[in-house]
Amino acid sequence: MMDARRQAYLDAMGIRVWVRRQSAPEPESAFVSDEQAPPVPDFEPMALDWDELAARVAVCEQCPQLVASRTRTVFGVGSHKAGLMVLGESPGADDDRRGEPFAGISGKLLDKMLRAAGFPRSAVYLATAVKCRPPDDRDPEPGEFSACVGYLRRQIELVNPAVILAVGQSAARSLLDTDRPEPRRGDVHRYLAADIPVIVTHAPVLLLRSPAEKRAVWNDLRLLKRVYKGANG
Ligand code: SF4
Repeated sequence: MMDARRQAYLDAMGIRVWVRRQSAPEPESAFVSDEQAPPVPDFEPMALDWDELAARVAVCEQCPQLVASRTRTVFGVGSHKAGLMVLGESPGADDDRRGEPFAGISGKLLDKMLRAAGFPRSAVYLATAVKCRPPDDRDPEPGEFSACVGYLRRQIELVNPAVILAVGQSAARSLLDTDRPEPRRGDVHRYLAADIPVIVTHAPVLLLRSPAEKRAVWNDLRLLKRVYKGANG
């Protein structure tokens, strides 16, 4: 450590000296509650390219509970130039095993419907708002959405899709600047950071539980198709 007299000389000469900061004390509990501020990343995701971003996500340990429950992080998959980005909430068991979002049966059902609407998987970029599987498939905590949102924003910026399909209400809320607990299906919302239209539909797992909802999802996909065509002239 520098003594006070030397520091005073340097201050008088207008010289600033780099001093290592004391490291923050370890928190007593690793649990990220809703009331606590989300962890602040020690880097700027918006400056990263695809490879750097994927590498950061792969070693990210900002959410202690999710780090303990995941097998691996689930970054995203698909065309980096996709016109359509499909966004889910968080990885499920199959996604966690394979390292790909929408890898399970419900994801396959969504694939089928997207293909029927003219969007084969090869023309879509798929991602989740939270990139690690929560323990016992619980809903992600608000602090976990906040911790992960920088990665998602950068993915959206890099893909720059014409339209985003938010699959499930939590996925929609992670994108939209809204206090509504349930952003309305049937409306064209906007992801304001990049002025991209957002269509909201049901999570595919609901279709497995309630096949009658397929008609509602089909209507959402028709709206998606119209907005996509409009965005592409
Ligand atoms: Fe990191 Fe996102 Fe996983 Fe949290 S959910 S540990 S922020 S990659």
